[in-house]
Amino acid sequence: MDSSELTVMIGLEIHVQLATKSKLFCSCNTDYQTAAGPNENVCPTCTAQPGTKPFDMNAYAFEQALRIALALGCDRMRDSVTMQRKHYFYPDLPANYQRTSTPIAEGGSLAGVSITEVHIEEDPGRYDLKTGIVDYNRAGVPLLEIVTDPVITSPDHARKFLEELRAILDYLGAARDVESGSMRADANLSITGHNRVEVKNINSFHGVFSALTYETSRQKNMVKNGLEPERETRHFDEDRDITLGLRKKESVDDYRYIPDPDVQPIAITKEQLNRINASLPELPRKKMERFRGQYGASDDEAHALCMELAMADAFERVAKKVDPKLAAGFMRGTLKKQLNFRSWNFAKVAQKEQFIIDTLLLLSERKVTDKVAEKILIDAMDGKAGQKTASQYAESAGLIGVQKSGELAEIIEKAIAENAKAVLDYDAGAAKALQFLAGRVMAMTKGRADPTTVQELLKKRLSK
Ligand SMILES: [Zn+2]
Repeated sequence: MDSSELTVMIGLEIHVQLATKSKLFCSCNTDYQTAAGPNENVCPTCTAQPGTKPFDMNAYAFEQALRIALALGCDRMRDSVTMQRKHYFYPDLPANYQRTSTPIAEGGSLAGVSITEVHIEEDPGRYDLKTGIVDYNRAGVPLLEIVTDPVITSPDHARKFLEELRAILDYLGAARDVESGSMRADANLSITGHNRVEVKNINSFHGVFSALTYETSRQKNMVKNGLEPERETRHFDEDRDITLGLRKKESVDDYRYIPDPDVQPIAITKEQLNRINASLPELPRKKMERFRGQYGASDDEAHALCMELAMADAFERVAKKVDPKLAAGFMRGTLKKQLNFRSWNFAKVAQKEQFIIDTLLLLSERKVTDKVAEKILIDAMDGKAGQKTASQYAESAGLIGVQKSGELAEIIEKAIAENAKAVLDYDAGAAKALQFLAGRVMAMTKGRADPTTVQELLKKRLSK
């Protein structure tokens, strides 16, 4: 059997840290990345000292969880949520159980992927296997887990889903570290009709794609060779971009879930949901639709512009100053290409907004060509333009004015003198000869001239 005919089904469990100041069941600071040292942001509660009880659940964290669930389109919201203890023994877990809620919401879908459920839980601490150091600064940080149905059909599909999820989280500002692409995910993957394999320990946006690509081809190859993938949990090794067998899968029973007697069930009211729904911002899908209608953006342009809120907002300001279609094409094409090339998000060049506007104005006035506009942008991104405006920089770098200064007329004369045969061909009616001469002129101006202007001037000159 050709392995490309085998179909794969993927489900994801995505963990995002909610953007809150304090932990889920105590008032410790959640900012473990900037903590002075290990075990600085801890208290008796989040280190599970004997006799301690959790505080009331962080209401702000719960509200963020509800906002995300509603933004994902979850239509089956629960009336109340119970915290459970999920038991396992590992040094990162001081209580030997993790508090994790029953589902907050079900239903919803994104990029054609249906959401099984969403629940809230506590992040464990961090245990460094190499040094044996346990750091509880992260223990108790509020986490949202988003579980999808196993309906993702390829690593690429997973990437599209995650891209949209990331955009929603970015718009809501409800999660931490969304821009940097840091997120944790577990995946389950099976070839239709074969055993399901779990992949744990995926720690980045890009990692999901790599892990799924590796695992898809590993399982397809096994099945193609008449082997059955083992039902197991595998670990993703990000440095090597491979997955490794870790342990045989434990079943849900092994976690011995019990309701946590220390935490009261949390009610979710209709009023609360209505209030949150009314306060949600315009979400990526809606914005894309509006960009298509209001600015005439293509599907591709609307998608590229709306996957990051900072970029969508910048586009709308740029579109007030220059032709929206020109702006959409330039930001989707030239700018996005340069951002991707550097693995940057738009936020990194947000302070260059005026520079982008000025570049587009030069372009629309045909003072620079597409190629020059791209070069100006690249130079600005690389810091070569300093504090100069786009026109000051283009002027100083000799990228502008070739049409006005009479320099172009001189270059045309030179091209004609050097290519006498092409001129004769043109006179004899060979249209291609004009293209050839225009190409020579463009090369001599190093792409600074506008191709249409060059053609017009050449035609005029040759008809004399
Ligand atoms: Zn604490």
